Amino acid sequence: MIVGLTGGIGSGKTTVAKMFQQLGIAIFVADTEAKKLMENSAEIHQELIGLFGKEVIDENGLPNRKLIAGKVFKDKQLLEKLNQIIHPRVADYFQKWKKKQNTPYIIYEAAIIFEKKLQDRFDYTIIVTAPKEVKIQRVVQRDQISKEEVADRMKNQWSDNKKIKLADFQIENKDLELTKKNVLQLHKHLLSLVNA
Ligand code: ATP
Repeated sequence: MIVGLTGGIGSGKTTVAKMFQQLGIAIFVADTEAKKLMENSAEIHQELIGLFGKEVIDENGLPNRKLIAGKVFKDKQLLEKLNQIIHPRVADYFQKWKKKQNTPYIIYEAAIIFEKKLQDRFDYTIIVTAPKEVKIQRVVQRDQISKEEVADRMKNQWSDNKKIKLADFQIENKDLELTKKNVLQLHKHLLSLVNA
């Protein structure tokens, strides 16, 4: 059973994913795996050079993420091409990873699931939510950036309300202890669905 876990920036999806991990559930963090593949795959490096030019690989042999972010920021087509290089490989890797797991169910954590219409890949989906002001404040504190920069990052993501309607389960993440309790309850429910 595969459960998709998502939530807007600063909602706390990584925090919630870690709670499931502590309950013994295997977690695949799509953004982290994409970053690792981008750093380690010679094949991806070649394709990045094709798309952005030689300077995209820095003196340490790693893709220059700042340069890439700067170039794709205002160019949707370029971003789409970058996604076409990265996403299929993350998907392939997930398929291989999945076979090696032996936990009752697994969780796939990604910032964007509904926006990319990926929900059909999962048996169930969970959305982590928090009030907008709280999310902004968390990210300002965590990343030491301005409120405006956080708002800018939020632009590509749908509102919580739109996603809540599509998700099977919602975890409201305000008070951490309450979140923990709700995660445990949902975990038990998911276990019952595995065994159903
Ligand atoms: P992003 O999409 O930016 O990676 P995220 O949804 O994965 O964000 P987290 O990284 O889990 O969110 O949380 C954002 C910040 O808020 C972190 O510094 C985390 O420690 C903090 N945080 C998360 N949940 C809570 C909470 N319930 N109470 C207080 N702080 C929290």
